[in-house]
Amino acid sequence: MTEQRVAIVGAGVAGLHCASILLENGLEVLIFDRETEVGGRMKTTNMDGFLLDHGFHVLQTAYPNASRVIDYKALRCKPFQPGALVVDSRKGKPKIRRMADPWRQPIRGMISAFNGFAGMADLLRIARLRRDVLKGTIDTQFDGDDNTTMEWLHSRGFSESMIQRFFLPLFSGIFLESDLRTNERMFRFVFRMMSKGKMVLPVDGIGSVPAKMAEQIGEDKFRLGVRIGGIDEGSVRFRGEAHRFDAVVKAFSESEGDGPSRSVWTMHLDAEKAPFRSKHILLNGNLSEPSSLIAHVAVPSNVQSSYAPDGRNLVTVTIVGDRVTAAGIQEPSSIEAAAREELGQWFGDGTVSTWKTLDVNCVENALPEIGAGIRLTNQPRQGESGATECGDYLLHGSVEGALLTAEKAAQEIIEKLKNPTSSNQQPMRRF
Ligand SMILES: Cc1cc2nc3c(=O)[nH]c(=O)nc-3n(C[C@H](O)[C@H](O)[C@H](O)COP(=O)(O)OP(=O)(O)OC[C@H]3O[C@@H](n4cnc5c(N)ncnc54)[C@H](O)[C@@H]3O)c2cc1C
Repeated sequence: MTEQRVAIVGAGVAGLHCASILLENGLEVLIFDRETEVGGRMKTTNMDGFLLDHGFHVLQTAYPNASRVIDYKALRCKPFQPGALVVDSRKGKPKIRRMADPWRQPIRGMISAFNGFAGMADLLRIARLRRDVLKGTIDTQFDGDDNTTMEWLHSRGFSESMIQRFFLPLFSGIFLESDLRTNERMFRFVFRMMSKGKMVLPVDGIGSVPAKMAEQIGEDKFRLGVRIGGIDEGSVRFRGEAHRFDAVVKAFSESEGDGPSRSVWTMHLDAEKAPFRSKHILLNGNLSEPSSLIAHVAVPSNVQSSYAPDGRNLVTVTIVGDRVTAAGIQEPSSIEAAAREELGQWFGDGTVSTWKTLDVNCVENALPEIGAGIRLTNQPRQGESGATECGDYLLHGSVEGALLTAEKAAQEIIEKLKNPTSSNQQPMRRF
């Protein structure tokens, strides 16, 4: 009996995971991607010994599916420290304060309460928030209201200072939008993951996650640099011709360009001396001011020394796209100049002027839009194309979400091929 062949269009983590499951189930796969490299939104470029992730990106060890699929040990992942640094310029000269995690580091948490950043009431609210999101299962976090994150934080009684100085810079850098309009259920899910596990970086950059998955699948299963122009249940169209398969999986979103887009600018800098030594992310406590652009700064080489050559440090600056749009600047050079000015206020112009810019780049359509009132669940939605689909856009913008949708798509294909009579031929969908 000949093996049944499945075409998978999209070599992001969703397409790759779907391919692995199908291979494990004895099916033959061919994976197409318009790019010449696998990974989709998870890529790393090696530039003169610096590992430049395409946007600041971490893995959460608490993701249940990801921890089964991704071998954190083989990727030699190392963690960030819990808590955060917060830069605060409220009273003239900017001060960098440490906001400890009041649960894992209670003594330090108490100190944060008295160092002028957060009050004791807010720290207790954080501790309660943490207790509540850790209750029940992940699905429990998707129950209840589905308002915006901002509305939910207010309903939990957090002070304006805590919201603006801590939650806004941290979560705007995660959700890639600066109003905290993201569904509160997504916030609860992410906060649970952060409370339960660690945020880690692989030794070879975030792109090593899909690269490792692709290596296990095998080079001969890929057709890279091939843009698919249309699909139906049994064929994919490229270079002007339809090519037949037993089944097809669409592992990418078509919605690029429709509605609000979440984009992010990243500036990578080479510094002789790191601006801080700890393995924290530095949040911009002044992000609510219209003139402020940067959401956060990380020094990935403090966590994984492999991110920079010996004697150098990699400084990664995250600017959410809606902030540059609001500021009316678009050119990479203007964004770089504005970010350098802000960094200069925090670390000193003299210091920042010695940092060399390695790259300034923008990821468009970085995450799917997940607003309030959509009854977000933790179960992948059915795609609208009529084909079998996977990708984070069918659940939520995270590696965990992408992997869950891949498992559902793979099951659907296995069922379809076992029971071909149930097929319902749709016309070819063109992109
Ligand atoms: C800057 C940034 C930071 C992030 N940080 C985190 C984080 O810290 N933690 C976390 O969990 N998640 C994070 N995410 C989200 C996570 O990266 C995504 O959820 C995940 O990578 C989505 O994978 P995917 O396979 O669904 O889609 P994609 O990675 O977008 O893959 C789709 C693939 O399809 C290909 N394709 C599209 N159209 C065609 C066509 N016509 N023909 C052929 N190929 C096509 C594309 O080239 C692409 O390779 C971040 C995302 C970004 C952008």
